[in-house]
Amino acid sequence: MKDNTKVAVIGAGITGVTTAYQLYSKGADVTVFEANPYPAMETSYANGGQLSASNAEVWNSVPTMIKGMQWMFSAGAPLLMNPKPSWHKYSWIAEFIGAIPHYERNTVQTVKWALDARQQLLEMAQAENISFDRETTGILHFYETKKQFEVAQKVTELLGKGGLERRAVTPEEIKTIEPTLKGKIHGGFYTESDFTGDIHKYTSALANACVKRGVEMRLSTVVEKLRTDQGRIEVFSRIEDECGSSSPGQHKEVFDQVVICAGVHSRKFAAMLGDRLNIYPVKGYSITVNLEDEANQVAAPMTSLLDDDAKLVTSRLGKRRFRVAGTAEFNGFSKDIVWARIDPMLRWCHRHFPDMSTENFVSWAGLRPMMPNMLPRVGKGRRPGVFYNTGHGHLGWTLSGATSDIISEIVVNEKRAA
Ligand SMILES: Cc1cc2nc3c(=O)[nH]c(=O)nc-3n(C[C@H](O)[C@H](O)[C@H](O)COP(=O)(O)OP(=O)(O)OC[C@H]3O[C@@H](n4cnc5c(N)ncnc54)[C@H](O)[C@@H]3O)c2cc1C
Repeated sequence: MKDNTKVAVIGAGITGVTTAYQLYSKGADVTVFEANPYPAMETSYANGGQLSASNAEVWNSVPTMIKGMQWMFSAGAPLLMNPKPSWHKYSWIAEFIGAIPHYERNTVQTVKWALDARQQLLEMAQAENISFDRETTGILHFYETKKQFEVAQKVTELLGKGGLERRAVTPEEIKTIEPTLKGKIHGGFYTESDFTGDIHKYTSALANACVKRGVEMRLSTVVEKLRTDQGRIEVFSRIEDECGSSSPGQHKEVFDQVVICAGVHSRKFAAMLGDRLNIYPVKGYSITVNLEDEANQVAAPMTSLLDDDAKLVTSRLGKRRFRVAGTAEFNGFSKDIVWARIDPMLRWCHRHFPDMSTENFVSWAGLRPMMPNMLPRVGKGRRPGVFYNTGHGHLGWTLSGATSDIISEIVVNEKRAA
């Protein structure tokens, strides 16, 4: 039975939908606001697909900074920085550098969340009978040079402190784990417990389950303003029609609590509520190759891969789809698809999977909601009734199972304590 505590969740990506589900399961009366006509249409649409505790290393380190600076001057590199001055971008970089001393602590924390999240995510999928093209052949990180492999050895030790087991594999073992992978390979690390799946399928199905259970899902509803008044939360929104035109009237609704899960737009809402969340939109791309015939299906890998040098990840989404994702662009909020970023991904496919045709593929670009210290913001805001579960960066799919459980517990406990 629901209590009468009304909670608004802003955003229906993976963070918002898992938060709504967990809040409802813990007794709250939940309303989700989403600007798009369907859930999971922004960053939770076509990402790399990896649920990867093995990719939990935060980027705040001096070697990553040096590599990043070298990449800035090389065309087609995995990182692109538009040098045009912007306070948002440069304040983010300053905070990113400030978090370097916490590299080890933050990596270990991320691994712990990722391990818990995998379990929570599967429990929700099982409870709601959700199939999401889950592939359980593990994640293989591979390296072309001895030097890269030795760096990865150190990362493996750090991931181990968080409880993750991943083992070193020789080129011969790699051939057995993923026979389709070609190219110069010195060695790798294999994490059998990691898996992959389609974030859009999962989020959409969980959103449907939320609605069936009694969560109010307000789609095509743009939240324009949030305000606190005498301990309550005012949500001002406007409904958009199918053509994207806004209805003339702004609606005001009042809630006891609000959880911000608005991806790259969470920063704006935090500012309205007296908090500072320096989330920057770090753009990435994916291509989804349609494997139409049997020859192509056999030529594409089943094991999920991470090429640490090219900074590309892959996932097999069922028999007929193969996805490659990566690149990090610091270039504002544009989601335009740029050919110069897609082309290296296609070339990478041709190099490593020469028998797979990329004739039929779909490109996509999305914005990672990235905090400077690479840790999501999960917790209370300054004002009563205000909460955040946002800023998951490159690991929102990997971490949301855990962070939604944590935030929902904090939200319902605040009300119980009042
Ligand atoms: C190329 C790429 C590859 C990636 N690969 C992986 C991977 O392999 N594994 C992994 O774990 N993570 C990966 N990620 C990261 C992951 O996809 C994100 O962290 C995650 O999707 C973020 O989810 P979210 O709910 O925070 O944001 P979103 O999915 O963007 O959801 C936020 C929602 O809030 C809504 N919203 C915003 N403003 C308003 C408003 N004013 N009114 C109403 N609604 C609003 C938006 O419409 C949106 O639906 C990848 C990301 C990219 C770009």
